[in-house]
This record gives sequence, C-alpha cells and structure tokens, in this order.
Amino acid sequence: MRGMLVIISGPSGSGKGTIVNDLDYALSVSVTTRKPRENEQHGIDYFFCTEEEFVAMRDNNELLEHAVYVGQYYGTPRKYVEDKIEQGEVVVLEIEVNGALQVKEKFPEAVLLFIIPPTLNDLAHRLAFRNTEDPLEIQERMERALQEIQLIDKYDYLIINEDLPTAVNEIDIIVKAEYLKPHRSQSRIEKFTLER
Ligand code: 5GP
Repeated sequence: MRGMLVIISGPSGSGKGTIVNDLDYALSVSVTTRKPRENEQHGIDYFFCTEEEFVAMRDNNELLEHAVYVGQYYGTPRKYVEDKIEQGEVVVLEIEVNGALQVKEKFPEAVLLFIIPPTLNDLAHRLAFRNTEDPLEIQERMERALQEIQLIDKYDYLIINEDLPTAVNEIDIIVKAEYLKPHRSQSRIEKFTLER
C-alpha cells in the first residue's frame, strides 16, 4: 500500500507537539533557525541551523515546504518524507498553515488535520504555563493563532484537544478511515477484478 502524508497544524500551545510524539507513525524532523529551548535536542526536536544554512537548503531544493513563523524560518527536509512514503509508511508533518497548504498543493492526497484546545483561554494558559517564550513572543503567537484559525476550512479534519488519549485515538481513526477511501485502495480494487 502507498504511504500517507498526514499534516498536523494548530496554534502554538494547542498541545499538538505532545499529541504528535504519542503517535505511532514516522515523524518528520524540521529544520529551523529558531534557537533551541532548554529541553530540545538537535536531530530529535529540530535540526537547528543558521539562516545561511537554511537558505542553502532551500535553494538546493532540499525542502518540501518552508515558511516564516514569528520571524524564524522553518522547513521540512524533503528526502526523509519521500523515502518513508515510498516505503508505504504514514508520515506526520507538524507544521504551520502556510507550509501545510504548500504541501497540499503538491500532494493533494495529503490529509490535513487542525488541532485546537477547547477555548482561546486554554491556549493563553498553556503558553504562559510552559514558560518557554517571553511575554512579547506569547502575544505574537496568540495573534498568529487567531490568523491561523481563519484557514481552518482548508483542512480535512478538526481535532479539539480535550485530553491526550482521545486526541491520539481520533487521529488513528482518521488514518484508518483514510486508508478505506477508494483512491488509496487501487491495488485492492485491481485484485478484486483480476482474481476470479
Ligand atoms: P515552535 O517554534 O513552537 O516549535 O514552532 C512554531 C510553528 O512552526 C508551529 O506552528 C510548528 O508547527 C511550525 N513548524 C515546525 N516545523 C515546521 C516546518 O518544517 N515547516 C513549517 N511550515 N512550519 C513548521
């Protein structure tokens, strides 16, 4: 069976990072010019790089998509994603909306999921509680969240993150249902018609 590209977006503080880490699929590690947070590791959370390195990768066509988010560059290395899809795996990209829409354009069969917490208030609390951004950056990320929510209609599914196991389970159900769509089952349809 062909692999599947699952793109997960959602405002900073929606809990999408925790959800993504709990999923049992191949997870793409992005490249970014943002500085690492205290608990982040190079090659696991991100490939941290300079602006020059990022631009070189972008200009060499090594990125599947890229975007600027609150003044920093982020991009998805192309090779890992293409290899995993070729091997028939489900690959998850946890990326912001502009990058997600770029990928959907190139791969219309990609599945787009948007994750939000139950209320905007929850978002503000989570951002303040995790204590990884200064107040100005929290403000910028809140504004960005309100802009991103305007694009929710471009997505295939909305997950309201009430609790972690429910959200993870909903994503597993979506992946299973997507595999039952006829356009993903061409080989099974052929088997049905050929074997009499
Ligand atoms: P953070 O700085 O909180 O780790 O990420 C900021 C935003 O950038 C999040 O919305 C995250 O999903 C997004 N992001 C992370 N990696 C990528 C990427 O490779 N491409 C794009 N377009 N967005 C990314």
